[in-house]
Amino acid sequence: MEIRAQTPNLIVAGLLAVTLVILRIMPPPQLDPDFNPVAPLPAMAGGLEGEPLRYCTIETCLRSFESAPNEPTDCPYCGGPSDDWSPAERRQLPPDTGLSRRIYHHPDGRRFVAAVVTSGRQRTSVHRPQMCLPGQGFVIERETTEILSRADGQPLEIRRLLLRRPSQPEQPYYEFVYWFSGWRGETTSYLRLAAWNMADSLWHNRVRPWAYVSMLTARPDGDPRPLDPAFQAFVVSLHQSLTIPD
Ligand SMILES: [Zn+2]
Repeated sequence: MEIRAQTPNLIVAGLLAVTLVILRIMPPPQLDPDFNPVAPLPAMAGGLEGEPLRYCTIETCLRSFESAPNEPTDCPYCGGPSDDWSPAERRQLPPDTGLSRRIYHHPDGRRFVAAVVTSGRQRTSVHRPQMCLPGQGFVIERETTEILSRADGQPLEIRRLLLRRPSQPEQPYYEFVYWFSGWRGETTSYLRLAAWNMADSLWHNRVRPWAYVSMLTARPDGDPRPLDPAFQAFVVSLHQSLTIPD
């Protein structure tokens, strides 16, 4: 009688033990280094030229500057050595994270900053921008998911943040757009991406890199409700350049 009452508990304990043994026997998920979620940032997007952005590594300077491929990479302000990453990023991101940025110049004088962060073995390389933008002095005024139209007519889902920087009252707004790209495709949902990655580890026993693509620009004066048309055209063009055909 007593044994029968304990049977369900014994079954659960047995299943747990078997699961633990399987997890111990299974090799850890392998990184698939041949999988690229996106193409590299192009030198030209939407007819606009883009220069790589570099960061001074001297703690008393820390300024960023543009650097053409054949130009010296020393900081033009203090002469110190520079890096593709800011020193804070070097401290915070796992070393196998990929990170590239370019500044694209629009003929009207505006600059569109594009950044691509790709993950390595660790999943912590990429995080939601809502977590780091406040640390860079931005306030998120509004956040929406919007559907743009690609050149081929297919929908392009983006997450759009309308930002303000209280330290720059002369600049009314900044536009920030982002999405994630993983082995299942593109999404603006961090939770969906996390679920894809978990499925990749559990069912396929592998770690495929994923990318976080973002774009930022200072927005001219005017009605901030619709996405700025010139910036929107750039976002659609850059998306096309980053897409790797199946
Ligand atoms: Zn410097």
